[in-house]
Amino acid sequence: MVRERVRDTSLLMVGAGGIGCELLKNLVLTGFKNIEIIDLDTIDISNLNRQFLFHREHVKRSKAMVAKESALSFVPDCSITAHHDTIMNPDYNTSYFQQFDIVLNALDNKAARNHVNRMCLAADVPLIESGTAGYLGQVTVIKKGYTECYECQPKPTRKTYPGCTIRNTPSEPVHCIVWAKHLFNQLFGEYDADDEVSPDTEDPELAGEAGENATKKNGENIERVSTRDWCKEIDYDAEKLFTKFFNHDIEYLLSMDKLWQKRTPPTPLEWNNLANIKNDAGLQEAAIPDKRIWSMEECGQQFELCVTKLKERLKTSNEPLVWDKDDPSAMDFVAATSNIRSHIFHIAEKSRFDIKSISGNIIPAIASTNAIIAGLMVVEALKILSGKFDECRTVFLNKQVKTRNRLITECRLEKPNPKCYVCAEKPEVTVFLDTNKITIKQLEEKILKDKLGMVAPDVEIDDGKGTILITSEEGEMSDDVYEKTLSDFRITDGTRLKGDDFLQSFELILTIRQKSDIELPDVFLMEGELPQAQEEEKPPTTTTPTTPTDVKTVETSENGGSGGVSRKRRLSAHDGSHDEGSKKSKSESNGVDITSVTICDDDDDVSVETCGAVAVADSVESDDDIIML
Ligand SMILES: [Zn+2]
Repeated sequence: MVRERVRDTSLLMVGAGGIGCELLKNLVLTGFKNIEIIDLDTIDISNLNRQFLFHREHVKRSKAMVAKESALSFVPDCSITAHHDTIMNPDYNTSYFQQFDIVLNALDNKAARNHVNRMCLAADVPLIESGTAGYLGQVTVIKKGYTECYECQPKPTRKTYPGCTIRNTPSEPVHCIVWAKHLFNQLFGEYDADDEVSPDTEDPELAGEAGENATKKNGENIERVSTRDWCKEIDYDAEKLFTKFFNHDIEYLLSMDKLWQKRTPPTPLEWNNLANIKNDAGLQEAAIPDKRIWSMEECGQQFELCVTKLKERLKTSNEPLVWDKDDPSAMDFVAATSNIRSHIFHIAEKSRFDIKSISGNIIPAIASTNAIIAGLMVVEALKILSGKFDECRTVFLNKQVKTRNRLITECRLEKPNPKCYVCAEKPEVTVFLDTNKITIKQLEEKILKDKLGMVAPDVEIDDGKGTILITSEEGEMSDDVYEKTLSDFRITDGTRLKGDDFLQSFELILTIRQKSDIELPDVFLMEGELPQAQEEEKPPTTTTPTTPTDVKTVETSENGGSGGVSRKRRLSAHDGSHDEGSKKSKSESNGVDITSVTICDDDDDVSVETCGAVAVADSVESDDDIIML
């Protein structure tokens, strides 16, 4: 019986990478005959150590296409359709999803996962969701009306840092590495106001007294001029650049007395004195040159060398450069400048190897983890096909043997969260923002798309007249309208907006709450209709946002696994370093939700911006949102 069902079942597999290759092999060998595969990616040489359906001769070809060819080579009587395409393409609409009996996600990012989640809800097709992160793995089953959807519980956001920490008061190597990447963008990349590297005079700690005396001290006051224009003016003179960023700017910071009342003040460096500085170099003589910490003199030399090379490249390419950890000059630049900054702020310096891991967001992708997870996905699919839906489970692959001597633990599927802003009957969300500052463009890009996962939103004001604010019709939105603020449309505290994503068959009511003390990138917080815990011993504790760094937290119970280990989840859009809670408790919990973790491949450049906040994953348990594989 099940064998026949397997034969006649039609499956959609989204993603043909690390999990996808294993999964496709498992599916065809289990006897599935009708499979469609969608994957946007092409094969990279670094995939070959684990994505075994691909070989050297396939490099640069479509993953979906080659996966299909390879699978057919050992099970030729299958019907496999491959699409080299994004799942976000509107061609894959609700009726497309409805052709399938089960959808299997083997995806590498949260945006696509959110989207497939919504499409499966709209089409009412069961979804098997998966993810791996190093040794950790997870499989779950989502079915409309029966289980939590992928978005019922807020996913931990990636680890990010407030701008003032990066610009004024770094205290960890990663802060300096993020700053160094911003410096790269300021000097050679595309200009982005969120990448500012100069001292931040609006640091809340300064409480309005910002560097007034500092301005006097720092005679040149270079940060008032465009950094890029100034760089061109001085023809990227390494000494002048060094002096601005590692001496004048530091002097300027020192003049902000309040910052240093409880911190060790930074020490400005002199370009001509680098050879005399003692640092951590040499403490760690490693066999691998990359693992040795550079001396300050070497950092200075690398800085000069990289600036020269990158300047030339910028001139010839005529296009802004894009930082890439596999580009030696770009990597050396960040390694040198982050260590110089670390030295200035008395922070432990790192080897180029370590800096590359942190800045490139590298989490190892492990073939055996993928293989186990792909196997577990098929087990869940077979349960669904056998009509044993109540036996489906969320399954966690742990890093080490856990309770009852098990490497793999399972939990019952949770019921849908009635307040989920995706799968609730009438989804609602409350958005805190400054209506006088947030533009229509920001509402669309930063809130509806980035935060709320819509692909092509339409928005109207719920004013009885149906005033249209945003339309997804191509060419219908003018720049003029995009630049207007919400208050220009008389949107104020309490205004309700109706959001609609036609492709996702997703409608959402947004209640706007005016908060004038928050602004992008920290901007908006959401609460009220955001999902909350089902089984709490005490009611959710919330804090009313009062400063841009506030976050609202809710105690929720962990996915059932270890009997309700409570953990904090951040519900705000603000990605500050203030949220240590979710990360710590997550690693302590039995079931580790990693379908929102990034696993970066060695070929994967993770440039990491969420609403202008900065993110760097620093370990397997980091909170990013790509699962590479
Ligand atoms: Zn939901």
